[in-house]
Amino acid sequence: MENNGFLIPLNGLAQGKTRSRSRVGKEFFEKFDNTEILDAGLLVSTEIEKSGQYIGIDCHISGTVTVPCDRCLDPVAIPVDTCARLSLKFAAGEGDDTEDGSGREIVRLSEDNTEFDLSQVIYDYVCLSLPPRRLHPEGGCNPEAMKYLEHGISVRNAGGDNDGNPFMALKDLLGN
Ligand SMILES: [Zn+2]
Repeated sequence: MENNGFLIPLNGLAQGKTRSRSRVGKEFFEKFDNTEILDAGLLVSTEIEKSGQYIGIDCHISGTVTVPCDRCLDPVAIPVDTCARLSLKFAAGEGDDTEDGSGREIVRLSEDNTEFDLSQVIYDYVCLSLPPRRLHPEGGCNPEAMKYLEHGISVRNAGGDNDGNPFMALKDLLGN
């Protein structure tokens, strides 16, 4: 298929459930001009349910994406396990809820949409699932970079003075 499997034909959709699985790699993110994601190995399992006018999509995304570590800049693999649950609605005169009561995100389409591209949803959910700080586990950072960093910020000063060190301040918060 030319469309990478994520283009859902809205008119030709069979009643009932349609399931599919696809692998998503680095090239998927390159298409979105995302240079932050260095590599990816994700499995996307999609279940589309059509029942009368209702179209629901459950899209489970799991695997890893590799991004630069916020501390040492070496690549770090971040686990991804997220689920997009959507309900597709055609614009005609409905309210502007963003959720349908069962936790599904409502996606509004205009009547003349003949297909729905799930790629954007997958992309958004993966990006949103990433933690705000992407770090190697403690001690896993590039030692050369750490040496350099420790010279820049005095990481552990004997007096236990945490001023100016966000990591130590955070540790204090979590420790209490
Ligand atoms: Zn690191």
